[in-house]
Amino acid sequence: MSERRELVIGHSVLGRPIEAVQFLPPSYARPRPPALLFAAIHGDEAVTQLMLERLADELIERPPGRETWIVPCVNPDGVLAGTRNNANDVDLNRNFASASWGTNRRPGYNPGRAAEDQPETQALVRLVEHVQPQRIIALHATYRMVNWDGAGEALANEMAARCGYPVEHDMGYPTPGSFGAKYGVEKNLEVVTLEVPYLDIDEQAWLDCRTALRWSVDLPD
Ligand SMILES: [Zn+2]
Repeated sequence: MSERRELVIGHSVLGRPIEAVQFLPPSYARPRPPALLFAAIHGDEAVTQLMLERLADELIERPPGRETWIVPCVNPDGVLAGTRNNANDVDLNRNFASASWGTNRRPGYNPGRAAEDQPETQALVRLVEHVQPQRIIALHATYRMVNWDGAGEALANEMAARCGYPVEHDMGYPTPGSFGAKYGVEKNLEVVTLEVPYLDIDEQAWLDCRTALRWSVDLPD
């Protein structure tokens, strides 16, 4: 059984807790910088929450090869309402304080009144500052695709080889104020976005992603 700690890293607009689980590697593991994985920053992508909850269940039995933080649901209000945005109708993945915040956005994407003015965004930003992860995996739905920013190319390729989804660098549209813009492009961390499909009846989607996600927390250096 792995050593783990559950904690509340903040609260949503409607006061719901945003929870994180920290896993520590076995004492014999070689030191590696921490990984952070988060999901359901878009409330209409609840399948991503399910995937990280399952990953967390597995890590209880088989600890990761590095310190790993999992935030299964960044946007609990959105998940319960079935909406992409949070309860202030802000797209949290346009709310980060990248240089591009609020610029060049497509109609319908609300970045907030100021960068990082939303409590869900603030909770994730605080956690990144606390954990200082080198690699961060963001789960979105519902394409089958691995996207990367910053220093994430090698990790994206490794994960793509395991889940069988194609690697894309350019999403094909601007994403000002996105998590990837701030922590990948500007801070040059290994940021990988895994776009997962809805779960099939045979659960192939989970099995595909599971292998890629395990890779991200176990190996390589
Ligand atoms: Zn999304």
